[in-house]
Order: sequence, then structure tokens, then C-alpha cells
Amino acid sequence: MLQLFDVAKSYDGVTPALAGIDLHVDAGEIVCLLGPSGCGKTTLLRLVAGLEQPDRGRLLLNGRDLTQTPVHRRNFGLMFQEFALFPHRSVGENIAFGLRMAGQSAAQINSRVDEMLALVNLTGYAGRTVFALSGGERQRVALARSLAPNPQLLMLDEPLGSLDRTLREELMTELRAILKRVGVTAIYVTHDQQEAYAIGDRLVVMNWGRIEQVGTPQQVYRAPANAFVARFLGFQNLLPATAAPGEPARVTTPVGEFVLTAAPADGVATKGPAMLLIRPEAALSLSALPSIPSMPVATAPTLDGQLAALSFRGSHYRAEIALSIAHESVRFVFDLPAPAESTAEPAIGATVRITLDPMQMILLQTG
Ligand code: ADP
Repeated sequence: MLQLFDVAKSYDGVTPALAGIDLHVDAGEIVCLLGPSGCGKTTLLRLVAGLEQPDRGRLLLNGRDLTQTPVHRRNFGLMFQEFALFPHRSVGENIAFGLRMAGQSAAQINSRVDEMLALVNLTGYAGRTVFALSGGERQRVALARSLAPNPQLLMLDEPLGSLDRTLREELMTELRAILKRVGVTAIYVTHDQQEAYAIGDRLVVMNWGRIEQVGTPQQVYRAPANAFVARFLGFQNLLPATAAPGEPARVTTPVGEFVLTAAPADGVATKGPAMLLIRPEAALSLSALPSIPSMPVATAPTLDGQLAALSFRGSHYRAEIALSIAHESVRFVFDLPAPAESTAEPAIGATVRITLDPMQMILLQTG
């Protein structure tokens, strides 16, 4: 439905805010733009909205060039911080705003306002002033207002950014359900990976005005395209690694050599520098050294380090292991299955050995 070809934008003519973006959004799809602050997410949204002009590239909507369509004729819904609700007006008046602008009759407006209130679970709220609403209720009214004119594309810029963690978690699931019920095509900007996982059909991970990876939340989580994406998604256990020539599964790292079984991520150079990601769930067992692991798996890779922290999390233990890499102490985090029977926990500071599942170790491009 929406296609972007080589879209670039710089505000100062020197630093690119967007450095040539290719992207498509299908009808009814929710695409999440995810990346650190300053990576160009808002700029991309503003270009699509028509609030900024690209320096080069093409934007097509249903195959037609968008740049020729003025902002008010695009029929896009915008849920941006800068278009806040009118605080002293009623909820109903706020939702009716776009419908009035479109010249609808009072009867049409009233029925649509009621429909939108039901959609966002605020039936009966039409007469309340926005001033008296909670943060979460305000965001629902803002969503109702942007959906009321039945936009062909809805753009949301950090819509849950001002809410606390608990409320955000609650609204994430609800927001996706509402967008899916309406079937609207949406572009959703966030810097929060949990929010992106929960809301997006597809994620677009950005960095320095470029796209690092596009994929479903599951694809991006399972196979981050490179070390930048892995770090941004919150993975900590990354080691510089070099694959043996002609043997891409055999990698050398500062803490030893490993033989991998998972296929390297697409496009990973099998020679030259790379990064090895060891997922937190890679840890099969932890044992104090020098005792011999109780059930040694003949070929399982292991990692030795100092136990820096160990905490019981119900279904698992979280262990922090200090490794010495290039004379620096680096902490790796592992989620270990809790043993069926209580066994003595190794002491903090003890040297321990972690047995790893090679399937949970992935070679990535340095990013
Ligand atoms: P994000 O939404 O990912 O935080 P932005 O799109 O807001 O990123 O910003 C991308 C880059 O463009 C940043 O370096 C930012 O400082 C710059 N930028 C954004 N808006 C403007 C503006 N109006 N004038 C000048 N520079 C801007």
C-alpha cells in the first residue's frame, strides 16, 4: 500500500537524518519503527505524513506519488505528542474534531463519536472534560480521535511514551487489539522493544538514518541481523569472534573456541571479524569448578567465569558471570533452568562453568 524508495532527508545539509530508506507497508499491517533516540523514526513518519519534504526518493501510496498530495488531502490519522487533545473540551468534542473539519452532519458525528467511544472502551465518557481523565484514558481518546475520520493510514509516534510501565503494558495489548479490529494500516514509532514486539506485525529496526533489519517480532528476536540489533534488543552476551576459514561453524573468541550448530544469520561473512551472541537461555547448567559436571554432554561447549550474582526467579535462576576479556571484566547474563531438587548453590565469587546449548549461540555481523 505504501512504498518508499531511497528516501533521504537531512536538516542541515550535512548529517543525514534518513540516509536512503526503502520500505513497504501492506494494507492492514502494523509496522513498528524501532530504534534509539535520534535514529530518524520521527523524521520518517513526518515525511510520510507530509509534514516534511524528502531531499530525494519517492513515496507512493497505492502506486501513486504522495508528494503531489497536500497534507490535508492525504486522509492520514496522526497520533503525535504535538497534536495533543484540547484539554478544556469534552471527550466527545475532541473525537468529533476531524469529523467537523470534514463537514459531517451533527447526526453523523454523534453516531461516529459513540462508535469510537465503544471501540476504545470509554462508552459514556462523551461529556467529560479531557482535563479530568487519567493518562491512559487520554491516550484512548487520542486514539479514538485519530481513528474517527476512518484514515487510510494511521501514524503513531510514541503514543504510550508518557505513561508508566504498568499502564503501558496494559495499553499495548489493547492498542494492538483495537487497531486489528478496525483493520487500519498503521506505522507505529517506539524506542521500546517490548512495545514493538507486542504491537507490530513487522518491525523495522533503525540506526543512524538507516534500516538495520526488517522482520516479524519473532524473526528479529530469534535472528538479530547484527550486533547493533542484538544490543538494541537488550542482548548482553556478545563476544568478538572469528570464524575459521572454510569452517563457518568453528569460531574463535577471546574466551575460547566454539563449534556452533545454528546457521549463521543471513549475510554474515564467514571470514573476518564477527560477533558471537550467546542467548541468556543458552545456559544448560552451572557447576562449581573443579567439580565435574554431573551430566556432561560430550560435545557441549562450556564457559568458565566467576559467579557475580545469582537470583532465584521462580521458573529459572538468573546468573551473572564475570568473564575476563582483553583484561577487562565483562558480565554475561544467563537464565538457568531451576533444578528439580534443591542443590547447594555455588558461592558468589566462585569460579563456575556454564554448559551451553550450541543451538542458542549465533554468529552475527559486527554492527
Ligand atoms: P527519532 O525519532 O528516532 O528520535 P528523529 O527523526 O527525531 O529521530 O531525528 C533524527 C535526526 O534528525 C536527529 O539527529 C535529530 O537531531 C535531527 N532532527 C530531527 N528533527 C530536526 C529538526 N527539526 N531540525 C534539525 N534537526 C532535526
